Amino acid sequence: MRMPPMGTDAISVMEDFRRYFGHTLGWDKFALSGYPVYSCLAHTLRDRLIERWRHTQRAYDEADGKQAYYLSLEFLMGRAMGNAMLNLDMQQETAEAMRGFGVRLEDVQEQESDAGLGNGGLGRLAACFLDSCATLQLPVTGYGLRYEYGMFRQRIEGGRQVEDPDHWLRNGNPWEVERPELAVRVKFGGRTEHYTGKSGRTHTRWVDSQDVMAVPYDMPIPGYRNGTVNTLRLWKSTATEEFNLEEFNAGSYTEAVAAKNAAEHITMVLYPNDASENGKELRLRQQYFLASASLQDVINRWVAKHGEDFSQFAAKNAFQLNDTHPTCAVACLMRLLLDDYHLEWDEAWHITQETMAYTNHTLLPEALEKWSVAMFGRLLPRLLEIIYEINARFLEQVSLRWPGDVERVRRMSIIEEGGQPQVRMAYLAVVASHSVNGVAALHSQLLQQYLFRDFYEMWPRKFNNKTNGVTPRRWLAWSNPELSALIDASIGEAWRTNLAELQNLRKFADDKAFRAQWRKIKQDNKQRLAAMVQRDCGVAFDPQAMFDVQVKRIHEYKRQLLNVLHVIHLYDRIKRGDTADWTPRCVLIGGKAAPGYDMAKRIIRLVNAVAEVINQDADTKGLLQLVFLPDYRVSAMEVICPAAELSEQISTAGKEASGTGNMKFMMNGALTIGTLDGANIEIREEAGEKNFFLFGLTADQVEATRGHYDPAAIMAADEDLRRVIGLLQSHHFNLFEPGLFDPIVQSLLNPHDPWLTLADFRAYVEAQNQVAAAYRDQENWTRMSIINTATSGKFSSDRTIMDYNREVWGLAAVKPHEE
Ligand SMILES: *Cc1c(COP(=O)(O)O)cnc(C)c1O
Repeated sequence: MRMPPMGTDAISVMEDFRRYFGHTLGWDKFALSGYPVYSCLAHTLRDRLIERWRHTQRAYDEADGKQAYYLSLEFLMGRAMGNAMLNLDMQQETAEAMRGFGVRLEDVQEQESDAGLGNGGLGRLAACFLDSCATLQLPVTGYGLRYEYGMFRQRIEGGRQVEDPDHWLRNGNPWEVERPELAVRVKFGGRTEHYTGKSGRTHTRWVDSQDVMAVPYDMPIPGYRNGTVNTLRLWKSTATEEFNLEEFNAGSYTEAVAAKNAAEHITMVLYPNDASENGKELRLRQQYFLASASLQDVINRWVAKHGEDFSQFAAKNAFQLNDTHPTCAVACLMRLLLDDYHLEWDEAWHITQETMAYTNHTLLPEALEKWSVAMFGRLLPRLLEIIYEINARFLEQVSLRWPGDVERVRRMSIIEEGGQPQVRMAYLAVVASHSVNGVAALHSQLLQQYLFRDFYEMWPRKFNNKTNGVTPRRWLAWSNPELSALIDASIGEAWRTNLAELQNLRKFADDKAFRAQWRKIKQDNKQRLAAMVQRDCGVAFDPQAMFDVQVKRIHEYKRQLLNVLHVIHLYDRIKRGDTADWTPRCVLIGGKAAPGYDMAKRIIRLVNAVAEVINQDADTKGLLQLVFLPDYRVSAMEVICPAAELSEQISTAGKEASGTGNMKFMMNGALTIGTLDGANIEIREEAGEKNFFLFGLTADQVEATRGHYDPAAIMAADEDLRRVIGLLQSHHFNLFEPGLFDPIVQSLLNPHDPWLTLADFRAYVEAQNQVAAAYRDQENWTRMSIINTATSGKFSSDRTIMDYNREVWGLAAVKPHEE
């Protein structure tokens, strides 16, 4: 079926929009505002994507080359409309078409809710990776879950976080296509039994299971102006037909409906914890559901095309596990090959190891996933058998390599023995994968040194580093159009797909007129953010002041507290009259706390309490402001990062695996104040030490401090710190709720504080003083800002994906067919 290509000009957009508005979706012209306009424009743009999608998928099919699958419980996509227009190069045309209807395109875009199917960095990384794969024309499909409720919406009430459900699908989602014909069945519970096959061999099957259907919903992932559209396939759980019917025949209609409900619960809600949800049965159900549905989908396509010959399967397929969350995939693949296609163990294991690769995202012990063997066996009996067999064969290898070293065997076992034995998912992922990577140079090194030390000794060549990146399309071209236009005019447009090109901006750092333009754009972006702060916080930020920003999930290791201590110190200086050579600051803190993480919620309460005192004190006028910006999310970051001047990356060294917020800020010309942690180290290497404000203990020093940390001695030696802690202890910020912040003060003064906040206080204040002094020389600050953008090329996710592809996946790029 041949169709003429759809027009991307304003007239074509107007025609299609009118058709959707009047006919397909049946609104009348009196409603030319709000959601209907958004919906019709989204459908109009989607049609242009679907056309390219078809061509891309056909080209992949015909090329019959290797494909990769990115398995992730989280995809923090944000909004799709702007991304579609940017990638289709239809921004001007679409704006013009909307003007033709008397509608402002910006207002239409505001109608879209973020697709918030992730918590933070890990989920956003998956989204940036999909963008880069499409732009590099690599045949990569994302597999995830279609949560009915994404990341909760955060409101602040009386200074406290309140969570509202994120029913993002309420009005429908024009960016997805349901594919009911591709639904697959996922087993839970039941038992296993052996039987003899036709050939006389013994096989295992999983019987008496309660099955759930997985229905795929596909979202188009456009590449940058290259005709490629890849796929993000999200699974929704629904009841099976006969499951209902059985109950219905037994006369229990209500039980049947209740069972349907239970099946649909699996993909009802995203777990809102940045670290893991250890031990929760529903969470394990989600993980297995994703793994099983995705593996079946890949295998079904394989069998349809190649029959039951799996000899080329490993050469043609690669699975990347985004943290341990989808690690059930390892056992799922083994089960399908063994039970459904009757491969021998060794052949199935070879295929599994050749195709699986694992990315670790954290060293924090509370985030390392373990599942009780009892629960695992009840829910997934066949998978547990396979994991035991994997472990037995693996431990045999260990004891052959280190004869008699029973302690090592105990340490490395995938099953942690004890009163309640546990499955260690990270070890399963390492054993079953041919590649294991960390997400920044320091993190990958620490993995080899600590968490996976034994495994590194056994298989040094499995371990590698892939420093994270972010997509320059969303995080520079789209979010910062003014700066992008200036960059285009100065060095051309090639940076959009080859970010190393930004190096050519370096020479403009010494161009006074260029610097003035650079500053003017930052100023405009600050105005835009100030308007958002006014709307959402009711505080009028002074756009002349330095914009000092820390936005990220609220977690003790990220040390929002250190930031607050510094702000209180500045306030204390103002009250003491110590304001000579002052640099005015607007400090913005934002981020969500996991609903069950009391300390994180209390930190939010503290930021709001300190903000209230500071902002209403006449003495701070023109010198210092503080806000907590509610509901930090992708679409908020698109306004925040172009406006930030100082990026706070102040985690305890060794705790932040990489960070990616740091990269978005750098690209947009913010200077970083940071510790030697995660990708900060590489950011500083690229920007040069003169263009980065470094402070604090190193990861080695943090480790060496354990057991010797003495916050009382630090207090005794630091008058400023004593005054800050004194203000907290005297309930200066909580006069009507005495005691509210006592747990915070206690944790800071605790010699067992793992985050060593007070240890870095003095160094942090000194570094902030250098920041303040540097900001007063606006010409030099602008120079440093330009150099930060110019040297951010390494932090494009295009570079990260090319690294994965060269060293792990080995895919060939495929250009879509033109019709
Ligand atoms: C980039 C991003 C993150 C990750 O930020 P970090 O500072 O690396 O923790 C989290 N949430 C959102 C919405 C983001 O855009």
